[in-house]
Order: sequence, then C-alpha cells, then structure tokens
Amino acid sequence: FKVPEAINEPVNAYAPGCEKRASLLNKYKEMYNQAPIDVPMYIGGEEVRTDDKRPMNPPHDHKKVLGHFNYGDKSHVEAAIDAALNARLEWSELPWEQRASVFLKAADLIAGPFRNEINAATMLGQSKNLMQTEIDAACELIDFLRFNVKFMTDMYKEQPISSPGMWNRTEYRALEGFIFAITPFNFTAIAGNLCAAPAMMGNVVVWKPAETQVYSAEVIMKVFKAAGLPDGVINMITVDGPTAGDVVFNHKDFSGLHFTGSTGVFRHLWKEIGMNLDKYRTYPRIVGETGGKDFIVAHKSAVPKQVSTAIARGAFEFQGQKCSAASRVYVPNNIWAEVKEDLVAQMSTFKMGSPEDPSNFITAVIDERAFDKIAGYIDFIKEQNDAEIIAGGNYDKSVGYFIEPTVVVTSNPNFRTMEEEIFGPVVTIYVYDAEDFDATLKLVDETSEYALTGSILAQDRYAINKAVVALRNAAGNFYINDKPTGAVVGQQPFGGARGSGTNDKAGAAMNLMRWISARTIKETF
Ligand code: GLU
Repeated sequence: FKVPEAINEPVNAYAPGCEKRASLLNKYKEMYNQAPIDVPMYIGGEEVRTDDKRPMNPPHDHKKVLGHFNYGDKSHVEAAIDAALNARLEWSELPWEQRASVFLKAADLIAGPFRNEINAATMLGQSKNLMQTEIDAACELIDFLRFNVKFMTDMYKEQPISSPGMWNRTEYRALEGFIFAITPFNFTAIAGNLCAAPAMMGNVVVWKPAETQVYSAEVIMKVFKAAGLPDGVINMITVDGPTAGDVVFNHKDFSGLHFTGSTGVFRHLWKEIGMNLDKYRTYPRIVGETGGKDFIVAHKSAVPKQVSTAIARGAFEFQGQKCSAASRVYVPNNIWAEVKEDLVAQMSTFKMGSPEDPSNFITAVIDERAFDKIAGYIDFIKEQNDAEIIAGGNYDKSVGYFIEPTVVVTSNPNFRTMEEEIFGPVVTIYVYDAEDFDATLKLVDETSEYALTGSILAQDRYAINKAVVALRNAAGNFYINDKPTGAVVGQQPFGGARGSGTNDKAGAAMNLMRWISARTIKETF
C-alpha cells in the first residue's frame, strides 16, 4: 500500500511583523470579541443542547465569558453509545483507504483553513501562547493523524506465510463494541488523537473531553465533520465523570478505554472495569497515559549551561502543565553554582502574561483548582526548613491564574515536591555530592512511583551508559543531553510505565495495535 508520505508538519515561526502572526492574532481577537457561543454535545452528528449551561473562561482572563457548553446527564451518555453502535457496522466495514482519507483530509484542514481557529481556540480556552499552541493544536495533531495513517497501513501489510494449496490471511478487525475516550486539557492534540486513533482502525468512539478543553474540542469536531467523518463515529459528550462512567462501564458493548489524565482516576476506572468484567462481550482494552514526576540528572561532566537550559525549558514551557515536565532535578555540587547562576539569569528574561502577547513565555495555569493546588504547594515549601525557593514563588489570581515559575532547592532528596506531581511551573532541585553519581542514579530510580520521562546530562560516555542502564525502567522516554519534554510524533513515540501508564506509546503503531482484534483466516485449495 502506498499512502501519502508522512513528514512532520513544519512549525510556523510567527515572526514579528509577518502576515501569519497578524492573521492568527486577528482570529484570536475575533473569537474573543464574538458574542458568547453555545457549544453543543455532538451525538450521532446532531447538535444536542440542554438547559444546564456551564461557562467557558480564558484562564488568563477568567472574568471573560467565551461562551457556554451544554452539560448532559445519563440519557446523553446512553444516546452517545447508541449512536456509536449504530454507526459501527458500516464504519468498520469501510475499506481502510476510505477511513484513511477522512483523517488525511482532517490533517490537511488543520494545516490549512482551520489552523488559525484551532490555534486561537487553544490560546483562549487553555491559555497557550502562540508557539505552544502551534506545536500542540496544529503540528502535533496533524502529525498524529498523518503518521497514524502510515502506521495503520504498515500494519495491514503484515501477513502470515502461505504455500501452494493454502492461503493464510490476517484480517485486522475493529474491536466489537465502542471505545470510551477521556481526554485532558493540556494538549488539544492528545484530545484529537485519543479519538482519532481508535476511529481510524474502524472503531466508534464516545468522547468525554476535559471541561476546560471544550472550547477547542468543538473545533476538532468541526474539523472531523468537514473532513467527512460519518455521523456517530465520534460522539462528544460533556457529562460529569461518575455519571458517564456508570453508564459506559456497565454496558455490554464497552470494548476499550483510551485515557489521558491523572493516575488516581485511571486506577479507579480500571477497578470499575474489573468489577464489571462479567458484563462485557469482550475483554476491554485499557490504554492510559497518567502522571509523571520527570527527572533531570546531571553528571559532574555535564555542561552547566546545558543543564540550566534543560531545567528552564523542561520545567517551565507550557507552564509545566505537561505530564513530561521536568519536576525533580539532581545537580552535582561541582557545577551547581554555575547552573544556578545561569538558570536564574534565564528566568529573569521570562515574561508572564496573556497568550495574546507572543513575547509572554509563561501564561496562566488552567483553572482555579489547579492554581490553588500549585499555590498550596508553594505555601507549603515556604514553611519548610529543608527547602528554599531561589526564584519565583509568587502567584496572583485576580485577573488570571498566574503562577511565577518557581525553583525550589532542597537538602532532602525525599522532600515532598521531589516525589509528588504538581502539574505546574514548580521544579525542585537536589544538589548531590559529585562523587555520589551511582548512588544518585539509584535514588532517581527509587524516589518516584512514576516512570514517564527523564534526562541524563553528561559529557562522559561511561556516565551516560551507567544512567541508561540504571534508569532502564525509570522512564518510558529517556533523553540524553536534552530536556525531558517535547516528544515529536514519528520521532520519539511517547509514553511511560509504572504509575505513568500502560506505555502504549502515543503516535506509534504500538498504540494502534490496541484498537484492533485480528482474525486469522486459513483457506485451502
Ligand atoms: N508529548 C508531550 C511531551 O513530550 C507531553 C504530553 C503530555 O503532557 O501528556 O512533552
């Protein structure tokens, strides 16, 4: 099979004064100033509205109302499942080229006519600055769609051996039932991919986006519709979690969960699925990407400037609201003074404010709950004797949910913020004796329940190798002399194990394999 070549979508630089920047910022203003919109649920291609309207506010300007979304109940979950199951047969039997075409077209629409809208919606609804949204809502989502088409067709080529008198075939069937996608606020691309990946493989999907992502979620639904996705293949509902879970996990046709979110919720859902196992027609596939407590460990041979840059970018880009964000750092005492000086100098150039101003490196965190949680951690740190804030530490929610990028230095390698996920712009650094590298690697491996991403910074090749070996299970994405964030589809398949998820690698064939159930056919002549 030959499908259009998948190459990573080039990132627009939006240089000052260029037309693309002006046109995106105009779209942002236009959407900001439009009358409050009313985002429906999408069930079987129908727009469904209710009397229960919930507001959507920009996190950086939370008094502004962008519009409302319609909150549903049990009946909407049931309707979405019915719509999905009604669409299932025709969709799953459609030749793969027809399904691929829908998603290739969706990618082209995001790359072209919808680029400004999906970027502006992500800037407004999730407070991403111009580059953050371009990398996420435009490029990464486009890449997920195009690369997954390539991975799907590569997979279909895999066929068993045959011989004269016998033809063996593998038929890559969709799962029998529907998939439930629960998606996070922090990446518009993840939301789109968690629906699109199973759908591409012939499945039908009930999608529950994070309430704080609904504003850009609607644009994703518009793109899929414009790309010709048949009604009912992906259904978007906004209903509270326990209500949705109660209906979905009791349904005999529930056949898979595609989840990105917190470790606690994922564990809870898995247990609920386990409790209901006898009710299902098939064993459900459970795929989840959850928390992280991602590390940077520097060796005494590391280049100090490389370490400070990895911390500044790995911890604070995207306001630290990444599962992959660097949040615990181990720096040897021989380079600490230089690392510290340069880190503080780099941070003094960070501007914080609205995503509308492209020079703002840091914008607001997603909502009041996140703000209060992160601010709570900062308050806690300020009261401790074994930790000190050396940069940042201020916060203000009067206009938007702004938290200064904050660096904590602790003398306790098991300090609370070396272990717990904060999901915000706070990084904790432990300075170790440069001669204790081996023991430090052990510490890195044992300190956290998570294992998503991590970095080793070193010039000494033996030290690099020691880290590669000692930290084999400590991260699903491991970076050598780089920050632990910024995986690119097709280049660094993304996911982690232990408390960080099932490690089914987003943006890779490994993920798509979970959404098929193969039938082997033997024919004799
Ligand atoms: N894939 C992103 C990265 O490598 C992180 C995604 C996430 O936060 O879940 O930085």
